Amino acid sequence: MGRRVIPEADARVVRAAEPADALGRQLGVLGGTFDPPHVGHLWLATLAADALGLDRVLFMPAAQPPHKGGRLVSRATERLLMTRLAIAGDPTFELCAIEMERDGPSYTIDSVAELERMYGPETRLVLIMAADSLEQIDTWREPDRLLERVEWAVGPRPGIELPDRAALEARFGPGASRIHLLAGPSLDVSSSEIRRRVAAGLAIRYLVPRGVEELIVDRGLYRRG
Ligand code: ATP
Repeated sequence: MGRRVIPEADARVVRAAEPADALGRQLGVLGGTFDPPHVGHLWLATLAADALGLDRVLFMPAAQPPHKGGRLVSRATERLLMTRLAIAGDPTFELCAIEMERDGPSYTIDSVAELERMYGPETRLVLIMAADSLEQIDTWREPDRLLERVEWAVGPRPGIELPDRAALEARFGPGASRIHLLAGPSLDVSSSEIRRRVAAGLAIRYLVPRGVEELIVDRGLYRRG
């Protein structure tokens, strides 16, 4: 593969799309560390958009993910740039940098409040996650209040069972009706597996979009695991 130098201008922090044309929009929001973004993220967003009729999905990289405690996460600018490259080919996807513009840990409840302010009450916001995130939802800040504010779309992830409606009702009560379970195939890929493979000198082609792979090679990311 020929080396392609990614222009520095691409690394600029991009704000969320102008909300002016947001009236009546149906917006999905997929938060993550995206270290790096991979085809599992793109597929999850596609599954949610298709099932729920979403016009757009915002990919929202976390500045300082509260869940990833000990591990040193790649520089925010690199994750932002990789996310931008990952979604470049799909007009349904948009980058949303609001968590990177805020100081401190990235709590989804704060981001949702900010998105509501930006997009207004006419916009339906749907928070997208996979089953592993739902399993850990009680480690999130104010999950019940989060569910009161926005619907959730929960997709499959290999090795993790999606809960049934009874389990959701037992945990969330009537709010459970705002949780949409997404049916469809799931891809057995994770950012940690990609980092491991890069560190071991193994192929990652087709597990990440081409532009992401090129950036990882160009900048020598993840070489030390
Ligand atoms: P890591 O391996 O570093 O823990 P990850 O691959 O789980 O990372 P994140 O950026 O933490 O990626 O995930 C963001 C969101 O995308 C989470 O809701 C997660 O459940 C979901 N997700 C990640 N990988 C997949 C996948 N293969 N299929 C479906 N959803 C996924």
